[in-house]
Amino acid sequence: MTTAAGIDPSVPPSGEGCAECDASGGWWFHLRRCAQCGHIGCCDSSPAQHARAHAGATGHGIIRSFEPGEDWFWDFGTDEPLDGPDLAPPQHHPVEQPAPGPRGRVPADWQRHLH
Ligand SMILES: [Zn+2]
Ligand SMILES: [Zn+2]
Repeated sequence: MTTAAGIDPSVPPSGEGCAECDASGGWWFHLRRCAQCGHIGCCDSSPAQHARAHAGATGHGIIRSFEPGEDWFWDFGTDEPLDGPDLAPPQHHPVEQPAPGPRGRVPADWQRHLH
């Protein structure tokens, strides 16, 4: 099959959590995977919205959900969903990792911090 621009199915995800939140001790609600380079970032509902920030900084406009059971893609350029291929495994973060996550870094009043 042909692969859409902005999607490289051969690149594995960067890790199990948001790259920037893990570096700064932050936390996230849901995780998104850059379909171009595998960067894992946090979703638009998360306090820091690192997935969208990554797209803005790099021009990598297409993400896929990194949540268990979700395989949808999203194009930040058009703010529309789109179809995409299977990506290099793993397809989602470990199922034992909670959302919001990661365990131990989520404040008790986390819902107040969502966008
Ligand atoms: Zn983040
Ligand atoms: Zn990227």
